[in-house]
Amino acid sequence: MAQYPSSDQHLAFLVKLQRLLSEGDFTATYKFALLMALADIAVGRGHDDVRPLDIPMRDIAEKFIDYYWQQTMPYSSGLKSADQTTGILSQNMGTTAKVVSDIQKFRNANHIDSIARAKQFKAFSKLVTSVAQTVSKQPVTYLQNIAGGTDPFVYDRSAIGVQLKPGVSSHLRKFHGLIQRMARDRWIRHIKSNKRNIPILGQKDDLHSFLFETNRNALGIVSKNLSKLFSKKCFYCGGRINDTPDVDHFIPFSMYGRDIAQNFVLAHGACNRSKSDILAAKRHVENWLQQITRYQDNISQIALDAGVISDQQTILSVAKWSYQQGHEAGAHAWVKKGEFERIGNLHSQVITTILDCSD
Ligand SMILES: [Zn+2]
Repeated sequence: MAQYPSSDQHLAFLVKLQRLLSEGDFTATYKFALLMALADIAVGRGHDDVRPLDIPMRDIAEKFIDYYWQQTMPYSSGLKSADQTTGILSQNMGTTAKVVSDIQKFRNANHIDSIARAKQFKAFSKLVTSVAQTVSKQPVTYLQNIAGGTDPFVYDRSAIGVQLKPGVSSHLRKFHGLIQRMARDRWIRHIKSNKRNIPILGQKDDLHSFLFETNRNALGIVSKNLSKLFSKKCFYCGGRINDTPDVDHFIPFSMYGRDIAQNFVLAHGACNRSKSDILAAKRHVENWLQQITRYQDNISQIALDAGVISDQQTILSVAKWSYQQGHEAGAHAWVKKGEFERIGNLHSQVITTILDCSD
């Protein structure tokens, strides 16, 4: 029978992780990216019991490329203040971070600006190899160093990459949202504290959206294409949208802060605001599963046009995980304005069926 970590073990892990974030030495942003990558991968294909999880270094490297891609573009938010110069943000205190310069070189050599397109290039595999070497040499070596010693409580090295210690995949899944927020906050603070970034940052304060959210331009393309595909119909209430449609994250961004095309649905502003950061009810889950299965090819094309990642397998695992979390927390799901239902096991059953089909 499967064994699960106890609540005490979950908490002990979280306490250690917080210690690592507050006492660890962060000369570059790599370690934040590594933590985020491990948490994302644990949600994508880890499990809730105590089994260890093998993760190839190349998988971590691909996550790094996802996270740093947007950050290798010049920082600007459209509103430029007088004291500001355009430039690429420094990710470490010394010379340019190698992951950043590798991505820049790859982009310039192949003349591509979107990560979705980049993955279709043959040379992308070489970029992954190079980033994997940096990740292995640097953050993987140093992440678990605290206060002059090493405490390997997250992973050990394996022949192909790292192996998460027994129970760690489960801890990372349980605290995914919290870990993302902690890592992102520290990442932002790190960039702000770097003197070389001061002239680039100016007075503005939209770093979070620049670093971690899909840019408005891409969202505009998603909105336009979804409107065409679904004749401007609101995903939730089925009504026609007469003004500008909202693009809603079906699995709330606050739960899983990574944009995947299959997670976007078109909604009335009012429906979107009412649903807010709440998981959607059973009938919406069923419609969503139908939509992403039936319009698989259209959604992949929209992802490519907008430069957003398309990954049906991962979003299904994320959905399964998020409803499991909601179920354990005794949360309610949103049906429509003012109406909620308790999250039962049914959600995960529906999704398990789909996952079984797609394996
Ligand atoms: Zn609506």
